[in-house]
Amino acid sequence: MEDKTEDKRIVVAIDGPAGAGKSTVARAVAERIGVPYLDTGALYRAIALKLHEEHIMPDDGERVSERLKDLRLEVGRGTISADGVDVTAEIRSALVDGIVSAYAARPEVRDALTGLQRAQAARGLVADGRDMGTVVFPDAELKIFLTADAEERARRRYKERLERGEEADYDDILKQVKERDRYDMTREIAPLRPAQGCIIIDSSDMSAEEAADAVASLAVEFERQRKR
Ligand code: C5P
Repeated sequence: MEDKTEDKRIVVAIDGPAGAGKSTVARAVAERIGVPYLDTGALYRAIALKLHEEHIMPDDGERVSERLKDLRLEVGRGTISADGVDVTAEIRSALVDGIVSAYAARPEVRDALTGLQRAQAARGLVADGRDMGTVVFPDAELKIFLTADAEERARRRYKERLERGEEADYDDILKQVKERDRYDMTREIAPLRPAQGCIIIDSSDMSAEEAADAVASLAVEFERQRKR
């Protein structure tokens, strides 16, 4: 009988609040186990940016859904473009931080992205976001909820901004981090919460490398067990 075990690669779902270090960890784990990485926050950010630029408000369901029918998102290795325009840098702005959650709470937006995200998992995947383990990949072999306290997460964001040469105010960032968490955790559809069967990792006192090592070890162990 044909053995398909070798062909099927692991799906690792990483969820958690803003600034917990998900993307650094997810990228490192994907590299370590040799599967693609998908930053799902970037998809929501690109949609928010595009719709905002076109003055389509998040609560205008009809226009949102009409526009999403022909909005073309393309994900490259660490890049994202919308309708052929590279928006990789722009989606990290404070403006997008402030508007993205309102768009992400809309059913039209979430529906449009669910299929796109699942389609990326054919060759295995490490995906990070807010609903990877709860909604998009509930059968993922490994589900991680990566968190850290709000002050530490705001400090990380603050440092990132300064390193990019941008202006930053720690108190503003902390306020925004808390506000975005509240929005993401209390929305009706796909709220941020630990998935059933997930492993919760608090990275407050860990470096990104330590958190990545912890998750990668779990993924490697899973692959080893499965191939036995
Ligand atoms: O991860 P990142 O901070 O880039 O995500 C930006 C926003 O996109 C989140 O605050 C959340 O509102 C939304 N998001 C989501 N579901 C995901 C990924 C991101 O709702 N899977």
